[in-house]
This record gives sequence, structure tokens and C-alpha cells, in this order.
Amino acid sequence: MNFTDTGAPPPAGRGQERRIMVEEQIAARGVNNTAVLDSMLAVPRHLFVPPDVQDRAYEDKPLPIGQGQTISQPFMVALMAEALEPKSTDRILEIGTGSGYAAAVLSGIVSRVFTVERHETIARQAGSCLKELGYNNVRVKVGDGTKGWPEEAPFDGIQVTAGAPGIPQSLCEQLKPGGYLVIPVGDSFFQELVRIKRTADGFFIQESLGTVRFVPLIGEEGWVP
Ligand code: SAH
Repeated sequence: MNFTDTGAPPPAGRGQERRIMVEEQIAARGVNNTAVLDSMLAVPRHLFVPPDVQDRAYEDKPLPIGQGQTISQPFMVALMAEALEPKSTDRILEIGTGSGYAAAVLSGIVSRVFTVERHETIARQAGSCLKELGYNNVRVKVGDGTKGWPEEAPFDGIQVTAGAPGIPQSLCEQLKPGGYLVIPVGDSFFQELVRIKRTADGFFIQESLGTVRFVPLIGEEGWVP
């Protein structure tokens, strides 16, 4: 959509593009958690991507963010956030900060977001973007997220936005009873998006949310660097 063609005001906030994104790509595909939809309406996705792809920020696609990494497709961000069944009091751990966009979406829904990124440059960029835009309840850490964030554990929910060969034990251990871990598990081409619930009596129940494609989760409990 090009607002300038119609003589309309410049798309400073791009709210109209976000509304269309939420209606056509997200709500239409079955995400109906209102906190998730409201947050997706509010977060300016175009400010989380490099300037050369900003005009494509509201398309139904992942986009490159540098260092061979990507910002996930908006629908995937919404699906994963909904799968966590987030509550306003929750403390959520995200592994794979990337652009910081998914962390920003969660930050509008829950109380605190802790996000870990292994690439220092990417983490620094995401951290300053989140800070500039005022997402003050998000903390970014550089490190191997397959080990979680033990100093801040346990978490009400954990989402991993990179594809793992298996489920990291450390992340299971850092999940509170009643909480969900959402993680893509598979090979380097395709993964199954798995949701694991830790029950009150300590069991882990697993279900599949479909086939997905993410960049690899690289680390001690992921793919070997
Ligand atoms: N959630 C992001 C998309 C993440 S792309 C967004 O909203 O933009 C996946 C990210 O996971 C990449 O930036 C990659 O560097 C990171 N990553 C891969 N392995 C990791 C690990 N072991 N720990 C932390 N981050 C990791």
C-alpha cells in the first residue's frame, strides 16, 4: 500500500497497514487472543527491520535482518505468542532476540520479557531499538540461549524462535509448572512447532502446532556451532 499515491498523510505510524496485517494474515488464520492481536496492532514492525526492507515490513513473510538472520513472519509471531497463553503478570523468556520484534509484541502483553541472542551485533541493535521505542520491560542478554537464563528462572513461559535438533533440557528445567515452552524442533530445513506444557505434578505434555521453518538454534543444547 502506498499512501502517498492517494495524497493521504505520510504513513508515520503505518497503523492502517498493521490493521490490514492483523485482519488478513493473523485473525483470518485463527489467532483470536485479543491481547495478542492488540499488541500486534500497536508494535511498529517497520522500525524493527533494516531501512531497505521497511516497505515490506507488513507483508506476510519473514525478512532479512542481517548476519543471515530473519525477523519471523507476523503470523508466526502471533501464533507463538498465543500458544504461550500469556497473562499480564507473566515473566516470559525468549530465545533468539533477532530484531527484537517478537519481544516487543510480548512486552505489551506480559509483565516482563527476558530475551537471549547469541550474535552480539544483533543483540545490541535489538536492545537499542527496544529502548528507543520505550519497551522498558524487556531485557536483552548476549549468550547461548539453549542454556536459558538461570539467574532469572523460573519463567511462566518460554518461546524459542530458532529451530532446534531437540528440546533443550535447561529450558524444560526453567519452566514453571503450568507454563508452556514453544519451540521448533526438526532438521535445518523444516521443523515441527512443538508446545510443551509442564503440568503441576511435574510431567511434560507435548503437542504439535504444525510445520514451520526457522533459522538454526546454535549452541550447547542446540546445533553444534
Ligand atoms: N524473534 C526474532 C526472530 C529470531 S531469528 C524476531 O522477532 O526478529 C533467530 C535468532 O536466533 C537469530 O537472531 C539467531 O542469531 C538467534 N539464535 C540462534 N541460536 C541461538 C542461541 N543458542 N541463543 C540465542 N540466540 C540464538
